[in-house]
Amino acid sequence: MYLKKLELNGFKSFAFPTTLELSPGVTAIVGPNGSGKSNIADAIRWILGEQSMKNIRSQSGKDLIFSGSKTKHKLGKASVSLYLDNQDGRIPLDYSEIVITREIFRDGTSEYFINKKSARLMDVVEILAKANIGSKGFSVINQGMESEILKYTPSELYDLLEDASGVRYLQLKKKRAERRLKSTQTNIEKTTAVLRELLPHLNFLKREANKARKKEELKQKLSQLQRQFFGSKIR
Ligand code: ATP
Repeated sequence: MYLKKLELNGFKSFAFPTTLELSPGVTAIVGPNGSGKSNIADAIRWILGEQSMKNIRSQSGKDLIFSGSKTKHKLGKASVSLYLDNQDGRIPLDYSEIVITREIFRDGTSEYFINKKSARLMDVVEILAKANIGSKGFSVINQGMESEILKYTPSELYDLLEDASGVRYLQLKKKRAERRLKSTQTNIEKTTAVLRELLPHLNFLKREANKARKKEELKQKLSQLQRQFFGSKIR
């Protein structure tokens, strides 16, 4: 699996649709200061599900959208598409190419797509976790991050090691299963409470049903005896 293409449209300094073909062998992107090299890394981090604006050198979602220049108006939307070659099946999906797209609008709404189909952040995090890629891990190492890692709190370090060791996907699965288990537990409690309420009424209804059955039997017996009695009288 490798990152083969990146499409940027309206993201930070990329006012015009820009495609970066990253065929195997490309190891570096060079350019003058301020030309947008780090913006590319920010785009990758953002699409991997980065939630912290600080980590993508911004204050709010609006900062991710092209803010205008002398020659071009500001834009209303930014979108980035990340093309992953999955011919080796490292991401267990039936696609040889996986395209993850993230869009953001000026009102702050943001959307994800996997192979052009609308998806949730959770879906993106999960499929990337299956390939040991995560926004928090070592997949993207920014300038100065090595020294930052040394200052990590134990929990941040734990996150990093989880990503690196590939257990992130299992952790996500475990968390989801725990959530489901909790909601099932709540459902069981609710159902038990309803049952407890209904049980006395059910017993009462059972007694009434028995009485009605007995009444029907007696009614039939009575009409049979009446037929025999009046029959003999007539004879
Ligand atoms: P250096 O080599 O100095 O680290 P760089 O090539 O990594 O630079 P970036 O930091 O990626 O450059 O890009 C900075 C440029 O992006 C700045 O000129 C900044 O004005 C521009 N920029 C950032 N956000 C936006 C935005 N929302 N709209 C327009 N331009 C933006």
